[in-house]
Amino acid sequence: MAAKTKTKTQIEFTCPNCSATVSVERAGAVTACPACKQKLGKVAQLDQLLARWWEPRRWRADLVKPNVPYLIERLWTANGQGERLYLGVSPKYTNYDIFRNMVTRLMVRGIDDGWASLTFPADPLAEDPQYVLTIVDSERFAESVEKLFPEVDWDEPVSVAVADAVGATPTAAKRGKKGKKKS
Ligand SMILES: [Zn+2]
Repeated sequence: MAAKTKTKTQIEFTCPNCSATVSVERAGAVTACPACKQKLGKVAQLDQLLARWWEPRRWRADLVKPNVPYLIERLWTANGQGERLYLGVSPKYTNYDIFRNMVTRLMVRGIDDGWASLTFPADPLAEDPQYVLTIVDSERFAESVEKLFPEVDWDEPVSVAVADAVGATPTAAKRGKKGKKKS
């Protein structure tokens, strides 16, 4: 996993805005483009890294071509976490497939918004690069999920279930959320 083959971790990306080359100190470090000054975020970097990872492996029948939603979905639904979250929220009009899709898009947004954290492997082009996705602000995550499913009665048990599902500490689900309780 953390085999040190090279000491050089610097990596070059292409700015999605102006196509200039952006040299990043370490994959995942948000860096401003030297030409247009636009920030090259984690999601844009991941997108390019996955394409680069795929390039020499594209003939392999045992592999699925990865992309950002594919990888992020795999990360957040791992170890039954996806099903747990689905059961915890129990949206009335959404099946698990659609739910997974919606939450995946939310997670991708969360990475650039900062409430979710994506840790890049030391060598993203290794055979089995290990990315780690964690929810750093479970409150903002819960609020975002809440907005996706307005039909759900968001009383405390649901919020706690959401916190549980993402492995957040129960204290993160604060009591007394403004105006959400029907008493
Ligand atoms: Zn640029």
